[in-house]
Formats: sequence, structure tokens, C-alpha cells
Amino acid sequence: MYDSRQSRAAVPPYFPEGTDPQWLPLTPLEQMAQTDYDVLIVGTGAGGGAVLWRICEGLKDSGKRIGVIEAGDLLLPTHGMNLPTSGWALSSIGNQFFPIGDFLPQYSAARQFFGLGGRTLNWGIAAPRMHRSDMIHWPVPLREMEKYYKIAEQAMFVSHAFAEGSTLSEITINRLWQNGFLESVYLPMAADLAQTKYGELHSNVYFSSILFLARALKLRTYDLAVRARAIQIVTENGKAAGVRAVSPDKKWYDLKAKTVVLSASTLENPRILLNSGIQGHAIGHYLTNHSGVEAWGTINKEQFPEIAGTLALLVPGTEFRPYQVQIQGFINGGYPFYPSVYHYSIDKPASDISDYVMWAFGKVESRFENKVGLSPSLRDEYGVPMIQVDFSHSNRDLEVIGQMSQALIQVSEAMDAPINIKDGRLDISNWIPGRDFHECGTCRMGDNPLTSTTNRFGQVHGVSGLYVADNSVLPTLGAANPTLTAVALAIRTTDYLIEQLK
Ligand SMILES: Cc1cc2nc3c(=O)[nH]c(=O)nc-3n(C[C@H](O)[C@H](O)[C@H](O)COP(=O)(O)OP(=O)(O)OC[C@H]3O[C@@H](n4cnc5c(N)ncnc54)[C@H](O)[C@@H]3O)c2cc1C
Repeated sequence: MYDSRQSRAAVPPYFPEGTDPQWLPLTPLEQMAQTDYDVLIVGTGAGGGAVLWRICEGLKDSGKRIGVIEAGDLLLPTHGMNLPTSGWALSSIGNQFFPIGDFLPQYSAARQFFGLGGRTLNWGIAAPRMHRSDMIHWPVPLREMEKYYKIAEQAMFVSHAFAEGSTLSEITINRLWQNGFLESVYLPMAADLAQTKYGELHSNVYFSSILFLARALKLRTYDLAVRARAIQIVTENGKAAGVRAVSPDKKWYDLKAKTVVLSASTLENPRILLNSGIQGHAIGHYLTNHSGVEAWGTINKEQFPEIAGTLALLVPGTEFRPYQVQIQGFINGGYPFYPSVYHYSIDKPASDISDYVMWAFGKVESRFENKVGLSPSLRDEYGVPMIQVDFSHSNRDLEVIGQMSQALIQVSEAMDAPINIKDGRLDISNWIPGRDFHECGTCRMGDNPLTSTTNRFGQVHGVSGLYVADNSVLPTLGAANPTLTAVALAIRTTDYLIEQLK
């Protein structure tokens, strides 16, 4: 989790110049430009990784050609928390996030990340489902969501088991139950907690999309180019025909593909679609995310046994609670997360273990006027227009933000773990928009092309063979963190695609 409180010093590049740390097979863009792909995936984050794994499974013996292009580089071969020196690794990954707020005044805390695995290299692995009431008006039936949630949870090892057995979590959850927060659960987390079985090594506890890429590779071959940025979708007669990609030395390559799956993120997908001249009333619109309120508190260590364990709890959103509260601690050396055995931080020694943090994520209404578009004046080094974000909170969003501050006080009282006092006030602060990293909705699914970019299977309205699969297709965002839902939908889209390709 990116720590907004610490300003990190710049770190040297990961790999000294001259080394070529390839830990999975790569294909040069030049070579990919010679191939006619059946499926070409753009981006390797949560959405792109899920599509790649599922399609390699579904088209295992088919001989179909599958390609993937990724704008970023090889950064880490696993989630940063799986490395014993994770304090360093994660802060280094943090430095790969580009603040884009300077030219997005209304969305000033947003950051973009480009790298193989996308943001799953350091996501917080909190993986709750959305509440049923949040999906009731979706074009995807609830029973199908149930099926695909199960598949996604299995694929990402999601369970409530991470904090179970920790006295700290057990005593605290009991206090929450006793004091009215009856829906409280151990935080569902995407963590492979299996012990080594039959000589199989389960060495990646924290899930990342790199596991999807590895699983896909075990099933069949695919071509993957990194440092390959998609800038346009090529279409012919209303059908996807490929992708124009550019390399860091600014050479352009036209990659041919019958089917293109765009998984380049909520901020980048509309940019690529709009830069391709693809028409769609809703493209880039309906940007949603979470409003956030953060509180820091102290747990009285004396109320717990000497080895208290870790704290990872969730008060979920419901039909009547338009926000969720995620509760985490101890703070091991300044990093607000679940400590691992070797965990250390470059900022503080690991002695300060009594703080905890609560994040309330609030529902933000899905509104046409909140949007990602193209800047009329700014272009990047490849000549592609930069994004421009128009974003504001509605009156209802502001009401929810007000409720969340009160809720954090109530939750802290229920846990008997007071919120700290800072500068004479409770240490509760509102997040600046974009700080949550949960953007969704800019290519939302729906039946009506006026209010959605893709149909119920993720296909862009009016362009056959062009699909979107990542956070951007979520029709609305409830209170839950979005990644599990985006992966569930990406797998569903891929199953549909496989049927079309057979
Ligand atoms: C610090 C942090 C903590 C988080 N914690 C949680 C959490 O606990 N739970 C949760 O649900 N979510 C969490 N998130 C959010 C989560 O990471 C995202 O929801 C998820 O990764 C989104 O997946 P995606 O595929 O939409 O986008 P990404 O993961 O961002 O993937 C997009 C991919 O596309 C690539 N790309 C972009 N543009 C191009 C282009 N033009 N050409 C080719 N490739 C391109 C990128 O390099 C990247 O690989 C967290 C995020 C951060 C940063």
C-alpha cells in the first residue's frame, strides 16, 4: 500500500545498466508485427492477466496465436510483499508511480503505474465481493456474478483466513460484533496460504497478476512484448484489425489481430479508444472511484497477549451502509500493513507496533459528467494527447463522506481502540480524489450505447472483435475494493470470447 504520509527518497533503477533480467520469455515488437494474432491483449494488470490465463486455458490445444503487449518494463517477478526485503521493494515500486495530479487539478492524488503485472505488484490484496444490492441493475445476472466470483476467488486464493488465529483480530472482531457491527468479517485477502504440499512450493503468498502470466505459460505459449505501448486500435469496416504500438525509441509497429482485448486501465483505455477515433457517447464518462476517509488510532497492547498477531478486519458495505471500513495494523516500522516475518521498513525501525489505521471507502455516484477525456493541448513524448479528468463529488457523495467520519469514530469506540489526537484534533482526514487507486467505469458495461461503452460481454458497442476487460468496465462501484469484481468480469468476458473463437 502506498504510504501517503512518507515522502520517499528516490531510489536507483532496479537493474544496473547492462543486465537483462528476463524471468519469462519475451518477443520483440518487430517479430510480433510479423504475426497475425487471433487474440491480442493490451496490458498485464489484474484484468489483462486474468484474460491471458483464462484464454490460454480455453484455447490450450487450439493453435490460435495469442499476443500480449505491455507498456511498462519487467519490474518485479512477484508482489513486492513476497520479497523478504519488502520495505525496500515496495517503496521502490512506489517510486514507479507517476503523479499525474499536476495537470489534473480535480483529481490531483491520482498516480499511474506502468509495469508488467500492473498495479497488482503492490496492491493491498483486499478482495471483498461487492454487495448484491450494488449489482442489482447490472446487465450481468447476479447468479452469473456468483459463479464468476467463485472462479476469481479460487484463481486468486481469496479467503478470510489470513488474520484468523491472530488474537488481535479475534478479540477485536468480537468487540465489533458485541457493539453492533454484526456484519464485520476477517478481511478477505488474495493470499496463497497453502502449505507446501506434495513437494509443490507455494512461494507467492501475496497474489499478483504475475501468477496469471505464469499459469498461462504453463498451459501454452504466447508472445509478450514489454516496453510496448498501445497508442491506437486499428479497425477495418467496423471490426478490430489490430493495435498500433510504439517502442521507447519511438518506432511504430502495426500488430495485426482479429480480436483485441484492451486492459490498459481505467485512465488509459479511454485515451486509446478516443485517440483511435472510435465513437461512443459514453467512452471515458461515468468515472467512479471511492471517496476515502482515513483515521489513525492506538491499540492498547496490554489488552492483548504478548504475541497478538496482525489486524485485518472489514466492516462491509451493505444496502444501508454506503461505505466499507477496512481496519489494519499493527504498523510494523511505519508501513501500515500486515507484517510479515522479515518485514522491515526503510523509514522506521520495527518497534512501533501499536498503531492501526482505518480506511473508509465511500460509494461515489456514477455520473456522466465525471470523465476521462483527451487534453486539447498537452501531448506525451509519442505525440498522443494526455488525459484530462473532470471529476467532482455530488451532494450525495459529500453526504456519504460526512457519514464515514462519524462511522470511524463509532468503529474505534466499538473496538476500544481510540483514534489518535493530532494537532489538538482527532487524526481523521479526507482523501483527495484519486488517492484510492480504485478508478472504474470509463468503459462501463451496459445495454444502451448512450450510457455504456461496452455491451454485457465487454465488447465495445459497434466494433466487433474489440473488448475491454479490467476495472474500467464496472457499471457502478459499490463500497468494496474493485479488483476481485474486475477479475470476475474479465474471466466472464474471456469465456464468451472463447466461445466466439471456437
Ligand atoms: C497501493 C495500491 C493498493 C491497492 N490495494 C487494493 C486492494 O487492497 N484491493 C483492491 O481491490 N484494489 C487495490 N488496488 C487497486 C488495484 O491495484 C487495481 O484495482 C487493479 O490493479 C486494476 O487492474 P487493471 O487491470 O484495471 O489496471 P492495472 O493493474 O493498472 O493494469 C493496467 C496495465 O496496463 C498497462 N498499460 C497501460 N497503458 C498501456 C498501453 N497504452 N499499452 C500497453 N499497456 C498499457 C499497465 O502498465 C498495466 O500493466 C490498489 C492499488 C494500489 C496502487
